[in-house]
Amino acid sequence: MKLEKIIKAAGQLARPHCVRDGDRFRLKDVDPGDTGGFGADDKPRAQEALKMGIDAMVTMQDMLYAQDRRAVLLIFQAMDAAGKDSAIKHVMSGVNPQGCQVASFKAPSDEELDHDYLWRCIRHLPERGRIGIFNRSYYEEVLVVRVHPEILAREKLPQALISRDIWKQRFQDIRAFERYLSRNGVVVRKFFLHVSRQEQKKRFLERIEDPAKNWKFSAADVRERGHWKEYMAAYEEMIRHTATEEAPWYVVPANHKWYTRIVVAAAVIDALGSLDLKYPRISPAQQRELAAAAKALQAE
Ligand code: ATP
Ligand code: MG
Repeated sequence: MKLEKIIKAAGQLARPHCVRDGDRFRLKDVDPGDTGGFGADDKPRAQEALKMGIDAMVTMQDMLYAQDRRAVLLIFQAMDAAGKDSAIKHVMSGVNPQGCQVASFKAPSDEELDHDYLWRCIRHLPERGRIGIFNRSYYEEVLVVRVHPEILAREKLPQALISRDIWKQRFQDIRAFERYLSRNGVVVRKFFLHVSRQEQKKRFLERIEDPAKNWKFSAADVRERGHWKEYMAAYEEMIRHTATEEAPWYVVPANHKWYTRIVVAAAVIDALGSLDLKYPRISPAQQRELAAAAKALQAE
């Protein structure tokens, strides 16, 4: 199938909930249990669709790399056990590892705390021609840091700069930063994997009961769950203030992992598909050079 056709077909795979103007965004308008047009027993069809989507992505990534003009930054944010890692793993499977880089952001180190909060993320921005993935990001600065004011207190900011407006200021700075990136050829797409509290409980219990999953369990995650409402309020505010035309948020239903993957793939294909990717054309002089090289090789 031709690439344009695949892109169009991928667009029909799933219609991701894309927020470009957050003013009216309400988290409760997106159902974490949604599976789009797919029924519960449609999983095989969904997997087939994902495979097709990944094939398209592989081709587009190759063109992105060859063109070497734009970079793509995909940011993933979610509550624990929402499936960030598995979405990243599945959606990026098959993509050339040379053209793709993943950075995970945990609680900042002492060195990181000695800098402004964007510093550590800027160091991991993708180069032109590459897809960069942020597994968590500077958005933690308006999520976990907002839910736990004691973290803000440890950030070594001058006291005079910590005002009631700090979250508003951070939203402003993040919007400006992403606009800057976009003006420099970096395509920014952000994903909030939206899982329900009930489904998170189920996944935590699986991590406790299944020895193969024990390593994933952390008691701290259960403590964070106690702040569910505050987190949801913080996520909603974050999306409302940082969804823009050039750097939209996708709110992805995450109770069914197989559906999450399709939605993420569809969104990435949509982003790549909007870039008018082509293999670079060579000049007539370069064409003559190629012909001469072929001739020389054949004459060996
Ligand atoms: P997993 O648990 O699936 O391995 P994870 O992304 O949850 O992946 P963790 O090792 O649990 O990884 O560490 C992430 C923790 O670091 C999260 O609780 C997150 O809120 C916290 N964190 C990330 N960025 C910051 C930040 N800027 N300030 C404070 N805490 C942060
Ligand atoms: Mg964790």
